[in-house]
Amino acid sequence: MGIKMGVALDSAGREWHADTYVKGQGLEPLRCERCPTPVAHQAAHTRERDDRSIYVPAYFR
Ligand SMILES: [Zn+2]
Repeated sequence: MGIKMGVALDSAGREWHADTYVKGQGLEPLRCERCPTPVAHQAAHTRERDDRSIYVPAYFR
């Protein structure tokens, strides 16, 4: 399990925000804004737990 982050940089140094990023945007690979670690985008989704729906916002990790 990696660290979740709201912002990532693409190979051209452009900044992408998890909540507006759509797969395919930017020059891959995307990476952490503070170090060279590659990150993957996880879209916002709903997780079911104990009969409750938990909204999980988009993030990079
Ligand atoms: Zn990092």
